[in-house]
Amino acid sequence: SVARDDVGKEERILVSVRVRPLNERELERSDVSDWECISADTIVFKNSLPERSMFPTTYTFDRVFGCERNTRQVYEEGAKKVSLSVLSGVNSSIFAYGQTSSGKTYTMTGITKYSVSDIYDYIQKHEEREFILKLSAMEIYNEAVRDLLSPDSAPLRLLDDPEKGTVVEKLTEETLRDQDHLKELLSFCLDQRQIGETSLNEMSSRSHQILRLTIESSAREFSGMGNLTTLAATINFVDLAGSERASQALTAGSRLKEGCHINRSLLTLGTVIRKLSKGRNGHIPYRDSKLTRILQSSLGGNAKTAIICTMSPARTHIEQSRNSLLFASCAK
Ligand code: ADP
Ligand code: MG
Repeated sequence: SVARDDVGKEERILVSVRVRPLNERELERSDVSDWECISADTIVFKNSLPERSMFPTTYTFDRVFGCERNTRQVYEEGAKKVSLSVLSGVNSSIFAYGQTSSGKTYTMTGITKYSVSDIYDYIQKHEEREFILKLSAMEIYNEAVRDLLSPDSAPLRLLDDPEKGTVVEKLTEETLRDQDHLKELLSFCLDQRQIGETSLNEMSSRSHQILRLTIESSAREFSGMGNLTTLAATINFVDLAGSERASQALTAGSRLKEGCHINRSLLTLGTVIRKLSKGRNGHIPYRDSKLTRILQSSLGGNAKTAIICTMSPARTHIEQSRNSLLFASCAK
């Protein structure tokens, strides 16, 4: 029935939109803010724009966050449920999607921090179980996968494992001693990306970053259920490449190899998420990009997904903001 489908949909993919405040550059040029969140789930285009009368002005998602909302609130309402499902053995992914400078890294860094802190709180409250946490971090640039915890290594290959599905060969997996160790590694990864940004022509806006936390737990005492008491799941925090590259690549055709690959990963992700949100029937093209191959086990099956689409409120970014809202609408 329709009602049951709706419940399933809501449980699988949670879609939110976050609008950042106007930044200094935008304020200096007297840019205007066009968008207003009029309720917890609806965002409207609030100004009149006669030359674009065809354009829809009201958009509804699971959640919308105006510029006055902070990242903790975005986490609590837009990602926490998905993030905590990893503790009951369910794989999950949390994505930030949007044009460069719309707030993806700002949002995802905060969400990762709050999520990790909730996970460690949970672990402390469940002394009857033993937890093992492992962290991996990678970057996909130009369809090449780089290990962010071992930055000098060669690009990594993807292999098909009959049991595990797609695995990233030789990817570093650090077993975490404690939460401080995790924080240390996360800031190391962030630094890696920032180096990329200055020395390699804003590489970070063209690459996808995946932080992957694997959590295994087992009962400290035998409960009579044997292996059933062992749980293992993965949560992925994904800071996507700027979405403007995907639309630019469409107009530039195959001239830009780089744009083309990013286009492929983002377009494939869009297709995969759209198909998953419409139900699981039919072919889902995970294998069409590195990003979706790596994330396959955290997207399909019973996996949970949260997508936060970030956008600038500025009039000058209206086209990109509309693209992000369309992406978000397709994921719903
Ligand atoms: P992206 O990763 O999408 O390119 P960033 O996360 O780097 O964008 O954000 C661009 C700039 O805007 C950064 O200086 C960031 O601190 C700031 N920013 C982004 N979102 C917010 C927000 N919600 N509130 C305040 N500042 C923000
Ligand atoms: Mg960024």
